[in-house]
Amino acid sequence: RIVYLNGDYLPEDEAKVSVFDRGFLFADAVYEVTSVLDGKLIAFDGHVQRLQRSCDELGIKYTVDADALLEIHRELVARNEVTEGMVYLQLTRGNPGDRDFVYPPEDTPVTLVLFTQHANLLNNPKIETGMKVITVEDQRWARRDIKTTQLLFPSMAKMMAKAEGVDDAWMFEESAITEGSSNNAYIVKNGKIITRHLGNEILHGITRAAVLKFAKMAQMEVEERAFTVEEARDADEAFITSASTFVMPVVEVDGKPLGDGKPGSVAARLREIYLDESLKQAV
Ligand code: PLP
Repeated sequence: RIVYLNGDYLPEDEAKVSVFDRGFLFADAVYEVTSVLDGKLIAFDGHVQRLQRSCDELGIKYTVDADALLEIHRELVARNEVTEGMVYLQLTRGNPGDRDFVYPPEDTPVTLVLFTQHANLLNNPKIETGMKVITVEDQRWARRDIKTTQLLFPSMAKMMAKAEGVDDAWMFEESAITEGSSNNAYIVKNGKIITRHLGNEILHGITRAAVLKFAKMAQMEVEERAFTVEEARDADEAFITSASTFVMPVVEVDGKPLGDGKPGSVAARLREIYLDESLKQAV
């Protein structure tokens, strides 16, 4: 695989980052994952805009050059012959040459890494069966709106789900669902789509924004508010959204089947609209 590191395209085993890099020592790093369909990038603008916001919120001095980043994404997609998959981008506060909690001077160069992954996104078998989730207490830090690489708790939550024989964990705080381990969470009750409102408690999903826009355009009723674990277990249907899963049905919460236990029609419809519209705008 050819990866990108600070201006160079390199074979993956030649791409090296310092042990003193703040991304490695402090998880002082932000990231984005953009999906690739038909060799094209989905929702690219949204991802680079969020990257800028993450940097700004953390005081990482970096000005996104969307055209330059698009070029790097395209180059990697081409060199690695990705028709379907993802491009992962990570940007760290760089390498101060030592370990120090204090940030290095602002002119310290950031570390920028990108790589591709091949994946079967469209024909994910979970579309047919739906996903099963458990709920676990959200033990992440309080700025989940910033897309940092501090992913240990989501990783632990995913392992708890695996240990229970299910697909993912939905996290909750004060008995209200925040989001999935790596996705935004939705329930449908009496025809209404309910998903948590934006705030510091969840990541502002790029897929979420698009899906809610399309739902409203299709005259579907949307309510952005916190919903409880109880409401999730009692929903008519449920689903998740993320860059790599698009819209995926959830058919079971904490061992309780939702509705008839099969993927719901709202999720199916939104997936179709999302894929249609996103492919039209892919770059
Ligand atoms: N919430 C969390 C915690 C995530 O890690 C992600 C990203 O994959 C999402 C939500 C979905 O965001 P997006 O639609 O931008 O991929």
